[in-house]
Amino acid sequence: TFITFEGIDGSGKSTQTKRLAKHLEGLGHTVVLTREPGGSVGAEEIRRLVLEGDPDRWSAETELLLFTAARRDHLERTINPALAAGHIVICDRFADSTRMYQGLSRGDLRHKVDALHDLMIGTEPDLTILIDMDPSVGLARAKGRQTAEERFEDFGQDLQVKMRAGFLDLAKQYRDRFRLIDGSRDMDAVAAEIRKVVLDYLT
Ligand code: C5P
Repeated sequence: TFITFEGIDGSGKSTQTKRLAKHLEGLGHTVVLTREPGGSVGAEEIRRLVLEGDPDRWSAETELLLFTAARRDHLERTINPALAAGHIVICDRFADSTRMYQGLSRGDLRHKVDALHDLMIGTEPDLTILIDMDPSVGLARAKGRQTAEERFEDFGQDLQVKMRAGFLDLAKQYRDRFRLIDGSRDMDAVAAEIRKVVLDYLT
């Protein structure tokens, strides 16, 4: 079973993916917890190429190709083998993040994103947890983290508003696999709802 988490920066994805993984392991499942960009040796190298250094180093199109290359490696080396072994894969961001960030943040590249996805990725998750919240809450949380990935942390309020609306549109477009979670509540309540949604799916 392939479960992805999506949402704007600071929406609590990494905390919630960890909590869900722990819970499912406690129930006896074998869980592979992974993330994008990254999740395999090669994809983590590409992550550094894209997220560190001069933010204008890559054009929007080249950045899209790099994210797609990273995803392809991640699928080949990490996700597909784990799914083939019958494990549960939980991934912090996946192709929906590319539909949003590479697709909308530096001009409208949605057609190219979709074409590349069809050509080189193909795989969709079984279940996508969208942690939805007001961007001002997410941004405050994201800014509290000190990472070297400043450009990406600094998309700013307008873009986060656009990303939030875009994710909600995606949830409608792919309604079968999306589950919408209100991420503005306290972390325990969010975690409990995510557990319920996932266990409903698994049983
Ligand atoms: O989810 P995480 O915080 O690890 O993502 C790192 C940064 O990369 C975030 O600021 C996110 O906005 C950005 N990102 C992106 N395109 C993706 C995935 C992440 O721009 N497809």
